[in-house]
Amino acid sequence: MIKNAWDDRTLKEYKNKLFKKLHSDIVERIYTSHLIGNDPDLVMHGGGNISVKTIEKNTIGEDVKTLRIKGSGWDLEKINNVGLPALDIKKLLKLGAISKLSDEGLVSFQRQCLLDPGAPNPSIETLLHAFIPEKFVEHTHSTPFLFLANIKNSKKVIHDLFGDKVAFVPYVKPGFDLALLANSTYRSFDKLEGMFLEHHGHFTWGDTAKESYDRLIKQTNTVEKWIDTLNPSKQPKLNKKTTKNISNKADRHAFIRDLRSSVNQIGQGEYILITDVSKKILDILDNKSLKKFVNRWVLTPDHIIRTKGKPLLFDLVNKSYSAADIYQKVENYTVQYTDYFNTFYKKGLHTMLDPLPFMIWVRGLGIVAVSKDVKSGKIINDLSSQTLRVFDKHIHTNKGFYSLPEADLFEMEYWSLEQAKLGKSTRKPLQGKVAVITGGAGTIGKACAEKILFHGGNVVLIDKDKKELEKVTLNFNSDCVRSLDIDITKPNASDEILKFVTNFFGGADILISNAGSAVEGMTDELESQKFRDSFELNFFSHYELAKEFIKFYKHTNNKGQILFNISKQSINPGVNFGAYGIPKLSIIGLMKQLALENGLHGIRVNGINADKIQSGLLTSSMISKRSKARKVSKQDYLTGNLLRSEILADDVADGFMALILSLSKTTGHIITVDGGNIEASLR
Ligand code: ZN
Repeated sequence: MIKNAWDDRTLKEYKNKLFKKLHSDIVERIYTSHLIGNDPDLVMHGGGNISVKTIEKNTIGEDVKTLRIKGSGWDLEKINNVGLPALDIKKLLKLGAISKLSDEGLVSFQRQCLLDPGAPNPSIETLLHAFIPEKFVEHTHSTPFLFLANIKNSKKVIHDLFGDKVAFVPYVKPGFDLALLANSTYRSFDKLEGMFLEHHGHFTWGDTAKESYDRLIKQTNTVEKWIDTLNPSKQPKLNKKTTKNISNKADRHAFIRDLRSSVNQIGQGEYILITDVSKKILDILDNKSLKKFVNRWVLTPDHIIRTKGKPLLFDLVNKSYSAADIYQKVENYTVQYTDYFNTFYKKGLHTMLDPLPFMIWVRGLGIVAVSKDVKSGKIINDLSSQTLRVFDKHIHTNKGFYSLPEADLFEMEYWSLEQAKLGKSTRKPLQGKVAVITGGAGTIGKACAEKILFHGGNVVLIDKDKKELEKVTLNFNSDCVRSLDIDITKPNASDEILKFVTNFFGGADILISNAGSAVEGMTDELESQKFRDSFELNFFSHYELAKEFIKFYKHTNNKGQILFNISKQSINPGVNFGAYGIPKLSIIGLMKQLALENGLHGIRVNGINADKIQSGLLTSSMISKRSKARKVSKQDYLTGNLLRSEILADDVADGFMALILSLSKTTGHIITVDGGNIEASLR
């Protein structure tokens, strides 16, 4: 059952604190929008829409009757007044006088009605909201109504459950025609309180925010109760049985790793994989009858734009898949998708989207989203899990799934407004890529992470300083940043890191091998163990990580990159710094060797020689010591280079970014970031 979450006290807080300056109609609209948006069984991610009719002042102080409706790109659970563009409703309703209008024409006219021309695009269902005379209007794609939306006799069920209070509206694509049909339907009833849209969802309304919201919950729960009455004796107690889960975690990682590899080889771009392994999902996936639903397409056309029509199914409980098996299945999916496109497309009008599956359902593992970024991956998984919840109801009620015909789904998936967006969105260069940065909590690590995020990539920060790492990760406050506290000198650290990355993003494409620590002492005086320990961190940990990453890249056919933070010490040794400089010099050898051996796989291996960066390695006390030893001021010490300029962590990160983004034909190379130092120059 959906909970009625109305709470007078919270509404008061919205009015008196959170949105004090706004008109109370708009505050009430924001409040119930949040209530609706917070329940994943009512609406999800940009799906559904809400509105309120009110009176507002325009720029010159005149009162204008307005419709405030959800703006496109806004989620109900986070909406505020900016996400609720205001339209002159009197002008908007003039559209009732015409009988035909294209989607582009509708969008354009809606924009002409905006009070603020800079406001976001009002929802495509705006006109429908305007035609309903009640003050508040709600439109949701709730789980119970989506169950009802796809059974054969839904019209009769609606009539049996609601009599003349809720109308049945046969399927029409959202837009102008649906608004006209909804308008005439509304007017043909006496006191209508809601509408059920076949293959689509539900509308309800009321004169107050509370009446409208209460009706939404009540009507939705009426459908939910009815679903519960269907064949109750036949309902297996699904949640009580132990869900079969694959016991071997290694299989799980290998599966995700190979899946991303296939997807990135077959698809048109680069993707990350976002996995959801919640128990409820595993339970539903465990049902053998689910297979029957895989080819039944989507619950509501709105989903298809994000998820594609069909999921791709795997069964890790009973089968094991080699990398080649996975590749074959993904490829078969794209062949079928291409057939579907070829059946319905019109030349010059439609451009085929990436034929990859976006929803992957894996029995024994969970659901996996193939997506360009974390945000859209989570959306795909949420829609995927709602689809599973609805299918679960179908499995247990035996009502049969009666889907919208493929031609209608194609029309929605290849909607002209969506197709017009293609090519316009500028894909950031690191979108779909994952970078692992060791020494991630340090200044250089942070600077690199910032730049990678800026270019659309995802980051995994590695550091043994747990506290600092947590702080840094928290500061990023981004779903695209994950962190793992681990000592990279311990055995199997590289394996753990790769598994961690695969778990969160599906794999890795860039390693910035940056961790290091300076040990001071004359080479003949320093204890051997200290010298060896320095080699362990400053050389062997880099070697182990690079080795495992290269194996990973080769296995996944990934033209990945390895980048070492090498240091000026490798070329121009300083007194007392042998224990640091000698392993760094060895890294040059390692870099060259790896570049030499892996170029044929497209794997690039490069490094940065930086000098005098204030960091955890070159602390301010060390700067004091070294500047005193050289009898120069701290400032002169830091700017003692040809350009007389201090080198910042940001400059080092720029060097790494040049190697990652620009120098695509460069491998086995060192870039110096030291302000110019002839003794440390390579040629
Ligand atoms: Zn809708």
